[in-house]
Amino acid sequence: MPGERRGQVGWESDNPYYEGKKHREPTVCERCGLIYRDGHWQWAEEAPPGADRAICPACRREIDRYPGGYVLLQGTYWQGRWQEILNLVKNQEEEARRTRPLHRILWIEPKDGEVEIATTTPHLARRLGKAIQAAHKGELSIHQAEGEPLVRLVWRRD
Ligand SMILES: [Zn+2]
Repeated sequence: MPGERRGQVGWESDNPYYEGKKHREPTVCERCGLIYRDGHWQWAEEAPPGADRAICPACRREIDRYPGGYVLLQGTYWQGRWQEILNLVKNQEEEARRTRPLHRILWIEPKDGEVEIATTTPHLARRLGKAIQAAHKGELSIHQAEGEPLVRLVWRRD
């Protein structure tokens, strides 16, 4: 429920997006084909016979449009370097996904002169924000409420 305060443990066990949720092994994501094996979701050529079926946490977030992290681009600088920044963001996502396939970008949406990038995991949002700052300077601030997994990064350059 929105606004409800939850403890860390309760949040994890009730949360359908929680990456550490246990499944029977092997389980296949019937949407993207990832396999749950050795305690985590991973890439696989094909589903092993007899695998259980489920929806992985990243696909669940894609279906529900429920991000685990946001990066907000502010200021005017990004508009002149948009293709460059977009390429950087996509390359970072690709690299992250290679080893952690639940790290995905949900959407990249310009709104009111800003750009909102939503990610499936807080980890990927942090990675994108830091990569943008490393390449393009500017100011980066990280906002996360205590005990809440959702992270919001604001990068600004005028
Ligand atoms: Zn999936």
